[in-house]
Amino acid sequence: MGKIWNNKNLQTIFEFCDGYKNFISSCKTERECVNKIREVAINNGYKNLNDCIKQGIKLQCGDRVYASNLDKCIFLFKIGTRPISDGMRILGAHIDSPRLDLKPTPLYENSPSNLTLLDTHYYGGIKHYQWTALPLALHGVVCKKDGSKVEINIGDNIQDTVFCITDLLPHLDRDHSKSAESKINGENLNVLVGGLPLEGEKKEPVKNNILKILKQHNIEEDDFVSAEIEVVPAGQARDMGLDRSFVLGYGQDDRICAYTSLMAMLESNSPSFTQACMFVDKEEVGSQGASGMQSLFFEDMIAEIANLLGETSHLAIRRALRSSFMLSSDVTAGYDPNYESAYDKNNDAFLGRGIAFNKYTGGRGKSGANDASPEYIAKLRALLDEKDISYQLTEMGKIDQGGGGTIAYITANYGMNVIDCGCPLLNMHAPWEISSKVDIYEAYRCYKAFLEME
Ligand code: MN
Ligand code: MN
Repeated sequence: MGKIWNNKNLQTIFEFCDGYKNFISSCKTERECVNKIREVAINNGYKNLNDCIKQGIKLQCGDRVYASNLDKCIFLFKIGTRPISDGMRILGAHIDSPRLDLKPTPLYENSPSNLTLLDTHYYGGIKHYQWTALPLALHGVVCKKDGSKVEINIGDNIQDTVFCITDLLPHLDRDHSKSAESKINGENLNVLVGGLPLEGEKKEPVKNNILKILKQHNIEEDDFVSAEIEVVPAGQARDMGLDRSFVLGYGQDDRICAYTSLMAMLESNSPSFTQACMFVDKEEVGSQGASGMQSLFFEDMIAEIANLLGETSHLAIRRALRSSFMLSSDVTAGYDPNYESAYDKNNDAFLGRGIAFNKYTGGRGKSGANDASPEYIAKLRALLDEKDISYQLTEMGKIDQGGGGTIAYITANYGMNVIDCGCPLLNMHAPWEISSKVDIYEAYRCYKAFLEME
């Protein structure tokens, strides 16, 4: 363990993680991630692939392009010296995180309390009770019929107002000993947004006052039906621990891999194999949809790039996908000393011991798993050992304790080599997740070495 934590690199690691904390503090939705990644890419010489297509600009080795879809997923490419049909080095992280989405008709005033709330529909695997009694922020967009958009971002500036989902006081909670999760369900997760009545208004005075405030921001009640507003924990990512060795922050699944992949992509050397870095949406709900990994968008973009490289045959694209190597960069469960019985201590990931590789995920007898080939793992071991990068080969908890999936099985359908690898987390899927700074830095080093792999 001492091998990766040492006084020589401590400052480098902490500085790298300052950048990471800024990223996850300001990018709390997939759209905010795409906007930030696009901005950073453009500043680093990445051209819009769409412009290249429209203007018929040919690509050549050393070129950098990006492609985004619906503002909710984005891919970066760095063209290598070898033909694309020789395969690529692909990193794939997801930028959606568990949260609460507003329903299409969310706003209502309760009778008799007059308290006014926003109704939500949770997204991804959450423990409902964890989202009560903590400060919340609203992030998202309201799309107007005239084609304009109102950006929503309330609760993360220290002067901003915040929101909260209430929980019952222990004094009145006779079922206190029952598990919290058995009492709080998806329909209980209503966000308290108002208590001030509109003067002179008899019918729903508090709701009408909220509508008046929304109107000042050019939002009508009807506009919620064409909005995408996410309720997320309010506040910044922070250093954690007396030794500051951890990061406590929202959305580390999987923006921890997104940020480290992005930094690796920006800093990787000009490659012989074309490098690709994917930031996809919808992983937490099954990767479907136009911006999820199951969408044909990735394949289409490879076809467009191959075309602009002069490799126009259908076979070249199939070969490019099949010959590729990929790291499905996603988080895994870190061993938690408070819940030892859920883990297999010989096979689970420990915080602070480097990036964790899951040969397979899934559950109930590896169901749904991509099972990486041992030949590929051996190739990665050689690479990581040569670069002195700390890593662990892990599972996710005890057998039949649960399970989980990533995007690995989807890209494996092309016949490419793919394995899951990412940082172990504590509190995964909770409003505030915990990571180890040294794992973040090792993930970055691993992704960079992988992109440059021969
Ligand atoms: Mn994930
Ligand atoms: Mn997840």
